[in-house]
Amino acid sequence: QSQELSQVQIDYHAALQALVEDGTRMVCTGRMHTDRICRFESLCYSTEAEEFIYFHSNSSVMLPNLGSRRFQPALLDLSSVEDHNTQYFNFVELPAAALNFMPKPVFVPDVALIANRFNPDNLMHVFHDDLLPIYYTMQQFSDLDLEARLFFMEGWSEGVHFDLYKLLSNKQPLVREQLKTLGRLLCFTKAYVGLSKITTWYQYGFVQPQGPKANILVSGNEIRQFTKFMMQKLNVSMEESSSEEYIVVFSRTINRLILNEAELILALAQEFQMKTITVSLEEHSFSDIVRLISNASMLVSMHGAQLVMSLFLPRGATVVELFPYAINPEHYTPYKTLATLPGMDLQYIAWQNTDREDTVTYPDRPWDQGGIAHLDKAEQERIIKNTEVPRHLCCRNPEWLFRAYQDTKVNIPSLIHVIRQTVKSKPGPKKQKWSGSLYPGKVRDAKCQASVQGTSEAKLAVSWQIPWNLKYLKVREVKYEVWIQEQGENTYMPYILSHQNHTFSENIKPFTIYLVWIRCIFNKNLLGPFADVLLCST
Ligand code: UDP
Repeated sequence: QSQELSQVQIDYHAALQALVEDGTRMVCTGRMHTDRICRFESLCYSTEAEEFIYFHSNSSVMLPNLGSRRFQPALLDLSSVEDHNTQYFNFVELPAAALNFMPKPVFVPDVALIANRFNPDNLMHVFHDDLLPIYYTMQQFSDLDLEARLFFMEGWSEGVHFDLYKLLSNKQPLVREQLKTLGRLLCFTKAYVGLSKITTWYQYGFVQPQGPKANILVSGNEIRQFTKFMMQKLNVSMEESSSEEYIVVFSRTINRLILNEAELILALAQEFQMKTITVSLEEHSFSDIVRLISNASMLVSMHGAQLVMSLFLPRGATVVELFPYAINPEHYTPYKTLATLPGMDLQYIAWQNTDREDTVTYPDRPWDQGGIAHLDKAEQERIIKNTEVPRHLCCRNPEWLFRAYQDTKVNIPSLIHVIRQTVKSKPGPKKQKWSGSLYPGKVRDAKCQASVQGTSEAKLAVSWQIPWNLKYLKVREVKYEVWIQEQGENTYMPYILSHQNHTFSENIKPFTIYLVWIRCIFNKNLLGPFADVLLCST
């Protein structure tokens, strides 16, 4: 017993000594606050001041060393939402000697990942902003393994989906409020701060109307690796043991209701000759929902955060998103973007209620549930008359909220018609073979030979070898694209060729220098890189 205690004491003194002598060490990746993640040794946090502290000493390191640019606007984004001014991270600086006058530090021995959750009460935000980014930030740094501990600093309590965050590591995650119970001055032995944005596909409309991110860097493959991990942790088996195919209607029970849900379920079952079941976040456990969705052929739901569960659909399944009256499906596409990510292999269908008779509005509810009674009469009338919510910024547009929280009586024939335009026979899951798309390498040993005939005619014979990786691949169709550009001109002549050599004579002039660009194309749309440009003089 005393041995153990003294061991801890020695560790404590060693840790304290290291902190005082070495100070804080920080090395970051990323060139801007929006793409930065920092690794710290001996980063401290005052639970009273609610500030992180960087201690300067002889061995401290601060890279990047930004000077006051560290505040323009911040060192980094703590959440995965880009450049949101409520989500910035910074620290205050002190000389290590100040520790003599401060509360005794409490050391956090676990490797820490420190971040903000963006909106932990909303399932779309939970997956898109938090769980996927945390999972892939942990994949990026090898010491962020299952023994790492998550620290959520945004200030919310655990929230209804905390069990999901707990799946990401073996240690209980801690939220800001809980840190106070640990001590007045916490020092993280090793900590990573910030989240990778590499998996996010949607921007919520803070600076421009919402829509897919401009440069999406994630594919279905990475999404499915993540869902596989989550399903293992949830004890939901992956194998498609149940042979029976079925449709899942994901219903909301509080607002944005489907008013004729029973009729809808009957119609779907009849049309597709499949069992049709309903689930809701209120009535099913999360693992049950995952289990049901991961074997479903089709998922039907009103627009809303619960649709992020299409993450768990099997390849080949169909997502049907229902939009209330006056809401243009093209303007709200977080779930469409997800379903249509390359390699997700889902079919996506949007249906919109276009009939005023079939919508129920709630003008007298509080503003955050779509009420408009607080607006002046003219504005209320304009909203009620309008047939489409104009594009808008996040997050409090009353016309959007008014329309988003309508209930809908789904016009069954219209819905079935829309689904049937895409789903011709029985809906998926298809046991499709792996259709991974591999790109060609550069063509090799490109050569050209010119021949001049008289003063006005010339020929250019160009040949090359197959890309190096082709000999290990089975490719349905291999083609070559050749561009011939006269030196100094902006335009070029493009050719698509099936063989590894070709003699060009059209528009080839004698005594001219041509630049020849060659690349390989697999299966029509997998474009390889251009080989080094060939210079050919006729
Ligand atoms: N939610 C639900 N049933 C309801 C209403 C909401 O399960 O009847 C869930 C919804 O899926 C989301 C959260 O509650 O996770 C917040 O819903 P909200 O309507 O605010 O957001 P939205 O779904 O429009 O993103």
